Amino acid sequence: MPQQKTEVIVLRSVNYSETSKILTLYSRACGKVSVIAKGARNIKNRFGGILEPANYLEIVFYARENRELQFLNQAELIESFPGTKSNLEKTALAMAVCELLDRLETGQEPNPLLFRLQLSVLRHINDTEESAHNIFRAFQIHISDIMGFRPHFDNCVGCRCSLFGKVDFDLAAGGLVCAACKVPDAAEIRLSNDALESLRKLQRVHISKLSGLLPSKTLQRQVDDFLKYYLRYHVEGFRELKSLQFLASISP
Ligand SMILES: [Zn+2]
Repeated sequence: MPQQKTEVIVLRSVNYSETSKILTLYSRACGKVSVIAKGARNIKNRFGGILEPANYLEIVFYARENRELQFLNQAELIESFPGTKSNLEKTALAMAVCELLDRLETGQEPNPLLFRLQLSVLRHINDTEESAHNIFRAFQIHISDIMGFRPHFDNCVGCRCSLFGKVDFDLAAGGLVCAACKVPDAAEIRLSNDALESLRKLQRVHISKLSGLLPSKTLQRQVDDFLKYYLRYHVEGFRELKSLQFLASISP
């Protein structure tokens, strides 16, 4: 049975039997992997307490083809993001990052862009001294891009004409549509000029430089509504993300 060594981020951890845990991991070497960590619930176990969501680990597992659940052999902590864990809002956002990745059909092929994005977002959430919400907003746009449903915020996706003022965004087409290119009964969201400008910045500005973006609550709500409907449209199960429900419950 070949052993595989790879870096991973823990997406989900559930108890299994009296003594074990089943983990869903996003790995650098082989995409999403599910492993069973035997004995991980025993007080004295070889994994310590590191098999928790959003932790960044290096693991060794026995990789057998055509088996859904692999056996975890070793795990070492690389980063635990203590700045996130001491802050309720940051914790909820980091969990939302992991939960969202868990819902995506990423397969078992490596996707270095996706791995790097997740790690970078978790680090920035940990390090920021301001609200980490903009980082999560940008993450949702970047992940859409990597997964093949990049939203287009420039010209009309039908005829490429320029658009001004309030505009309509067609969820299925993934972009703005002018009056002539509108499809009857298509799912659309109307965006104000300010919301559109903010979405463009979230897409283009590096996640380390998002502070000060979206200063008003009204604008935040417009952008969050857009992202919610867009992700719901493209990601099955997005509606049920528990961390986002929790985040909404603690937001003022
Ligand atoms: Zn058009």
